[in-house]
Amino acid sequence: MRMTNQRKMILEVLNRSKKPQSAEMIHHEIQDQTLNLSTVYRTLDTFFLQGLVSKSTMKNTAFYYINQADHHHYMICLGCQKMFELDCHLDHIAEDIAAKNHFKITHHDMTVYGYCESCQQA
Ligand SMILES: [Zn+2]
Ligand SMILES: [Zn+2]
Repeated sequence: MRMTNQRKMILEVLNRSKKPQSAEMIHHEIQDQTLNLSTVYRTLDTFFLQGLVSKSTMKNTAFYYINQADHHHYMICLGCQKMFELDCHLDHIAEDIAAKNHFKITHHDMTVYGYCESCQQA
C-alpha cells in the first residue's frame, strides 16, 4: 500500500482518537481542502481490508479504530450510542477453528450491541 500524505493524515487522526471515528468525523477533523469525503471512505476501507483498523457499525455508519496487537472491541448501546471498550478473547477461539479449516486469519472484527443501564430503564 502506498502511504500517501492523505492516508497518513487519516491514520494520525485515528491514532490520536480515544473513540472510534466515522469517515465524516475524520473528514471534519482534517483541515485539508484537497481531501474529499469519498477518499476518506475509500482509504478507511483499504485500511480495514489490510487489518490496520477495525470497525463497528451503528445505524449504517461505520466507526473505525486502530487495530493494535493488544486490541479491544466495542459494545455499543443501541439507545444512546454510548461505546464501552471490550477486551478481545477471540484470538484463541478463532485460531482453533481456523487451524481445523486450514484458514489463514489476517484480522478479525467484532461488535457487541445492546442497551446500557439507563436506556434499559427508559
Ligand atoms: Zn444507552
Ligand atoms: Zn479482537
